[in-house]
Amino acid sequence: MTGAESHKATVSLLERLVGFDTTSRLSNLALIEFIAAYLKEHGIEAELQKNADGDKANLIATIGPRVEGGVVLSGHTDVVPVEGQDWTSDPFTLTERDGRLYGRGAADMKGFIASALAHVPLFVKADLKTPIHLAFSYDEEIGCLGVQQMVQYLKPLLPRPKVVVVGEPTSMQVANAHKGQHVSRTRVIGREAHSSRPEDGVNAVAVAAELIGFITEMARKEREEGPRDDAFDPPYTSFNVGPIIGGSAFNIIPNVCEFDWEFRPLPATDSAALLKRYQDHIDTVVGPRIAAEHAGCHIENGRWAYLPPLKAEPGSDAEALVLALAEKNDTSVVAFGTEAGHFQGIDYPAVVCGPGSIAQAHKPDEYVELNQLAACDRFMTRLAETLAS
Ligand SMILES: [Zn+2]
Repeated sequence: MTGAESHKATVSLLERLVGFDTTSRLSNLALIEFIAAYLKEHGIEAELQKNADGDKANLIATIGPRVEGGVVLSGHTDVVPVEGQDWTSDPFTLTERDGRLYGRGAADMKGFIASALAHVPLFVKADLKTPIHLAFSYDEEIGCLGVQQMVQYLKPLLPRPKVVVVGEPTSMQVANAHKGQHVSRTRVIGREAHSSRPEDGVNAVAVAAELIGFITEMARKEREEGPRDDAFDPPYTSFNVGPIIGGSAFNIIPNVCEFDWEFRPLPATDSAALLKRYQDHIDTVVGPRIAAEHAGCHIENGRWAYLPPLKAEPGSDAEALVLALAEKNDTSVVAFGTEAGHFQGIDYPAVVCGPGSIAQAHKPDEYVELNQLAACDRFMTRLAETLAS
């Protein structure tokens, strides 16, 4: 397969992939079945792993011998919504303008998947000594749900790979680290009463405000006294309190208040200790106090989403291999979270490298440059050559 042929194949596969509306709230099965059928044409049997509802699936396939030391090409198949965005052309019809291919998912991250698939014929022909695994997930954009199921399945079954390449858009730079993300939801159950009779109620909004004050103080402490890593911007673990819902009228003591909050830990941050500090404050200070005021008043706090950080493993074989494939000398870090930390969590070395820029992801008129796809195609060709020799 010449460079021009593989490039053409990548673009035409990307056109097909973008044509499937795989916004996270929808099923991705049509796209997964398309990929499975395509692989079958090339003699590769894919395994599908469905979610509990049966309307979404991960796809896993191995090309070459099932031995250790392979390379996993990892991508998520879902995309973020287009609602409310002003697109110049139909987001689900790949459209070329000025050396760019526009479409939802073009950068994040169907371009990488298309390039990987376009090289399957080459991978099959290459007589690989170590395997190439394809690992495509669902529901990355709404909390990495698919990959969490996938890694549990892979760990006992897949011979340990040398590296997982997570093809999120890095402009084909090799990123070896990113922060994590812990999203929690706190719900305060207070007691309703007429606002003129504060002794009769427990104000859930006021209690929530007190807890948010505690989170704000944790944030200050991390910023001023916590670990620092100047590779990241900002170089500390940051916090945010997002939506808050509670209360119905100024003269009613609100009985429920709920808020979502998150923090983005540096790889060196002890996330469990931060969560414990907050939970301890609930369990030993605020919770007992409101329960004593009125029976039944309490606070629930649960994890809503979790993305482990990706820790750099500088100088590792995994990193060296991907740097060579991408023809780069240096690694970088990315500011966004990826599935890579979940792979690292099962002791698979992982790095992030894919075509397109995160600056275009999640936006109207998302695009990937043709020369980015070409660079990814060269990466795939070198991968086949490297694992064959
Ligand atoms: Zn993505």
